[in-house]
Amino acid sequence: MSAYNNSIIPAFSELEKEICLSAESLKPLFSPQSIAVIGASRDLHSIGAALLGNLLRFGFRGKIYPVNPSSTELQGLRSFPQVDAIGQSVDLAVIAVPSPLVEQVVRDCAAANVKALVIISSGFAETSEEGKKRQLHITEFIRKNGMRMVGPNCLGVLNTDSHVSLNATFAPIFPPRGNIGFLSQSGALGIAILDYTKAHNIGISTFVSVGNKADVSSNDLLAYWAKDEHTKVIALYLESFGKPRKFARIAPIVARQKPIVAVKSGRSAAGSRAASSHSAALANLDVAVDALFEQTGVIRTNTLEELFDVVALLSTQPLPQGPRVGIITNAGGPAILLADALEAKGLVVPELGSKTIEALRSFLPSQASFKNPVDMIASASPQDFQKTIHLVGADETIDALVIIYIPPLVTESEQIAEAIAISAGMIPVTKPILTVFLSSKGVPPVLNGGPRGNLPAFSFPENAAQALAAAERYTRWKTKPRGQPLVFSDTVQSDLQKIREELLQAKTSPTWLTPNEVSSLLRIIEIQTVTSIETPLAQVEHKAEQLGYPLVLKVISPDVVHKSDVGGVVLGLQSKKEIRRAVTEITTRMTARKLRLAGFLLQQEIHSHIEAFVGISNDPVFGPLVVCGLGGVQVELLRDVSFSLTPVTDIGAGEMIDKLCSKKLLEGFRGAPPGDREALCSIIMRVSSLVEFIPEISEIDLNPIKILPPGQGAIVVDSRIRISP
Ligand code: ADP
Ligand code: MG
Repeated sequence: MSAYNNSIIPAFSELEKEICLSAESLKPLFSPQSIAVIGASRDLHSIGAALLGNLLRFGFRGKIYPVNPSSTELQGLRSFPQVDAIGQSVDLAVIAVPSPLVEQVVRDCAAANVKALVIISSGFAETSEEGKKRQLHITEFIRKNGMRMVGPNCLGVLNTDSHVSLNATFAPIFPPRGNIGFLSQSGALGIAILDYTKAHNIGISTFVSVGNKADVSSNDLLAYWAKDEHTKVIALYLESFGKPRKFARIAPIVARQKPIVAVKSGRSAAGSRAASSHSAALANLDVAVDALFEQTGVIRTNTLEELFDVVALLSTQPLPQGPRVGIITNAGGPAILLADALEAKGLVVPELGSKTIEALRSFLPSQASFKNPVDMIASASPQDFQKTIHLVGADETIDALVIIYIPPLVTESEQIAEAIAISAGMIPVTKPILTVFLSSKGVPPVLNGGPRGNLPAFSFPENAAQALAAAERYTRWKTKPRGQPLVFSDTVQSDLQKIREELLQAKTSPTWLTPNEVSSLLRIIEIQTVTSIETPLAQVEHKAEQLGYPLVLKVISPDVVHKSDVGGVVLGLQSKKEIRRAVTEITTRMTARKLRLAGFLLQQEIHSHIEAFVGISNDPVFGPLVVCGLGGVQVELLRDVSFSLTPVTDIGAGEMIDKLCSKKLLEGFRGAPPGDREALCSIIMRVSSLVEFIPEISEIDLNPIKILPPGQGAIVVDSRIRISP
């Protein structure tokens, strides 16, 4: 090694350092040399006994110390009355004592220098306020003492590495060894997950049931698996997010290295939320989770079954380099289902190259179909499978291959599976291979015995399509540029700082800003607003003359959220006379509804048929979410909106617009003139940067923004901003 190597220390970013530290701190948890089982019991039906039994039965490589005050021997091992009586160093303690005793046991563990804890016991934050307090005490205590803790209220941890062979769970199952790191927030489901992996030969590297996540969280585990050489794919079953913003920072870094697949159950943790503005009404927690996963490159699946399908693919196959799929089958029906499902998910089933087609013709019967899907028909022999797989797999027009097999009378699944396994070895290693065995007998094990190792087998064509589409989307995410968020100039920043201080001084409770305050804020961040004047009743006509026509008159009232709902907006006013009439109309309507009238807003009328909407909804847990839509009043009706976490980059803003069905309006729909897309992108980015700069802003609603023709900008004609100090 040259002397230079020492001086070139890689410049780790703060975040990377954090990831390394988290990963390092979890090592005693997954690769302990010695384990104390606290709460090991003589009663073989107890959880403690099951834990001890599993450590023994699945061949844990390190030392095992049962701890139980009332016995000297358990399951053939010497047992100890308490941890400090062990007299040897203990890396990990698995605790399964009644919850009121846990705190003392944790103290004992700290005194005995135990490095990590798995608290199986329940009866903490999940049951009562009192339990929550105890959990908090324990968490504070272990953090002060530099220990890590999984749980409480969990199933335990598991490591299939043959040097460790750790089953520190009370589930009587040891999954096949493999490369998937699996997190389950639910313990009960964890047992089902382990069972499924065993039944379907899905290989696990490490498994964790995180329970209440009092200390070790999804974020820590992402870090651990990012650095764990035995893990290639990360699978998460989540029910809630502790720190979504931290997840948002860590996940994309990890996802660039290894795919993260997550199923998040849609339980709403946000509780009731004041949904007074458009943005807040449109946003909900699930939308936030979707945005979070999508932006961080996490593959979200709707069901656990889908999650298994995706990890079965990603853990065994390379990522597809493109969207083109070759299909080989011995029956037409399922291939059509597959082709439809693939295309519905944005993948393509292209026609094969002419040379491939010619070669296929030379040995397949004339009734076969040669283009793609290649239907070899029911008579296909193992040799037909082999030759066809070789030819289609090598064809440059495809990036991935799906092989469908339905057992007809004439062939044996066993031989076909073997033919597939062998011929898979002849296909470029860059192309993923998927199989669909439509057979109640399941998949012959020989399928996994070829040179490409395990080949994923799906129960139905649609499952294969869904998994492949997810893999392809992930590949695109991984390779696409990120873009840059907008950074305000120094002048803008100092102006914002000033106005922020003023606002925070003036407002002590959550309030909507006045129209003037809103205008000042928008002016600072260079978002163009319509020329308007706030005026008392007496001066409306006079001010109107100053502004010039055509004008719009709007009511100002502390009781009104949506002005047009109460007839508080009158458009197209051309003269003093019309203004006078509009004032009377609005006043009458307000009186009839017993709404207070604080004054009027006069605005220039902006002519543009394209109306956009940009807003912010700021969730206390999730942080700010940017919303964008097109199409004026119909926005809420059609729910054609897109969401993004902040900060939104230039590319991110473009993607938000591209996701809208109504984006065609900007392109000039049905002969109508197009709109200034750039101007809308710029507003999205400015709003995103504003709320990052002033986090006390809890809601923004720019609705509508009148979009002018390309190059002419966009003008906000109605805006609301709420601040929650
Ligand atoms: P609301 O409180 O009901 O949202 P708005 O101020 O958004 O009230 O006005 C309702 C509608 O009137 C807008 O969606 C827009 O179509 C139209 N409008 C409002 N102000 C203007 C303006 N200055 N120029 C042109 N149209 C306007
Ligand atoms: Mg409006």
